[in-house]
Amino acid sequence: MTAVGFIGIGTMGRDMALNLLAAGHRVRAYDVVEGAAESLRAHGAEVAASIAEATAGADLVVTMLPDTPQVEDVLLGAGGVRDNPPPGGVVIDMSTISPEATRRMHAALAAVGVALLDGPVSGGPIGAKNGTLSIMIGGEAAAFEKARPALEAMGKTIVRVGDSGAGQTAKLCNQVMVGLNLQAVCEALALGRAAGVDPVILREVMLGGSAASWMLDKLGTAMIAKDDQAGFRIDLMLKDLRLVGELAFSLGVPLPGTALVTSQYLDARGHGEGGKGNQALFRVYDRMTNQ
Ligand code: NAD
Repeated sequence: MTAVGFIGIGTMGRDMALNLLAAGHRVRAYDVVEGAAESLRAHGAEVAASIAEATAGADLVVTMLPDTPQVEDVLLGAGGVRDNPPPGGVVIDMSTISPEATRRMHAALAAVGVALLDGPVSGGPIGAKNGTLSIMIGGEAAAFEKARPALEAMGKTIVRVGDSGAGQTAKLCNQVMVGLNLQAVCEALALGRAAGVDPVILREVMLGGSAASWMLDKLGTAMIAKDDQAGFRIDLMLKDLRLVGELAFSLGVPLPGTALVTSQYLDARGHGEGGKGNQALFRVYDRMTNQ
């Protein structure tokens, strides 16, 4: 049993915490939004009123927050994790944030004897619910071994990619493929629809062949039905694409496909769709094809 302080009880964090509880771990949950952690109490979680309460007595602290500034605030801000280090000495940030900022925070926490792992995830809300996330680890191997029992409750593919920041780098590579795969699904469905083929049938037949993909399988039906309910928001994908762009620019790596799909995501946000699900990228194609 691992005592986990869990910070960030949102779309992903809630189900990840539920899986920790179901596997017999102790969870003390904290979220800045009042009531978010409270919803876990009925499932056996303790509710913390502050970061200090969440980290007290914890073997491991997990953060699942929107972006780099929130993680910096929670880890290094006044009253945060650096000021209240968990006795277990291990923190894993499972949000998707900047690899470079991760390395800076890793050094800052190492100075107070805390090992910071990066452990961003892929698999979406479905993977969070089913405990089948792919978890990409950066940081010390010894800290990873301490965190492993808790990670196994949340994910299926759990791989240490390398030193601090390497997990976030892997996640950004993952997001390049997420964006381009989704764009590919949009283009095929838009073309078929314009040519008079039923997109529902098109999806079904393509899933049986070499065009099959996670995006077509998990998001295709919602795209066709114009069900834009958010699981992974357009705004969060734009945050990831911004991080991809920063990394590529700093390394001088051209990513022409990613640059194009980033413009399409910006188009979606410009049309007020930032709060919609990732699959709402298809609305950009609706506009281009007058649908
Ligand atoms: P979310 O916005 O639903 O949840 C984030 C939670 O963090 C919210 O409950 C918010 O109140 C809380 N929070 C924000 N600032 C805080 C602070 N200072 N202290 C405590 N709590 C704070 O986001 P999400 O969809 O759960 O995503 C979380 C992270 O996981 C993001 O980095 C995202 O890119 C990544 N991710 C999301 C998905 C997905 O499909 N939703 C998939 C993979 C990875």
